[in-house]
Amino acid sequence: MQCDEIKELLAGYQDGELDGAQTAQVREHLAGCEACRTELGRLNKVKEVASKVQYKDLPLEVWEGYWQGVYRRIERGLGWIFASLGAVILLCFGLFHLVRDFFLRPEISIFAKLGVAGLIIGGAFLLVSLIRERMFAYHRERYREVQR
Ligand SMILES: [Zn+2]
Repeated sequence: MQCDEIKELLAGYQDGELDGAQTAQVREHLAGCEACRTELGRLNKVKEVASKVQYKDLPLEVWEGYWQGVYRRIERGLGWIFASLGAVILLCFGLFHLVRDFFLRPEISIFAKLGVAGLIIGGAFLLVSLIRERMFAYHRERYREVQR
């Protein structure tokens, strides 16, 4: 048999679909033909890759879970961005008014100003500490999501 004929039989040979005589012919040809052995090797690799891809595609709910996770992460990320933006704007606005209408007014006692300054600085420290704790918990949660 010629190489062209053998190559047409190789897929069937690989899947064990040939009859006894054909199998013997292909086997005999392969023993003496490097090119057809290489071709069979290529077919085996293709089959191997195809079976792996199928295996990966099979559990659909895994993919659904993956996209749900991505969506949730985007949603949460957007939530954090908008909330932070709003907080920064409000903070700047509030600070501006506080400085202009409270700290820069000479008729307000220095003690009241010191008291309010203390409250603000203490509150800022508490807020930063709270945010850091929340971020730590968020990252740990994400880590757990990845692990699952
Ligand atoms: Zn050949």
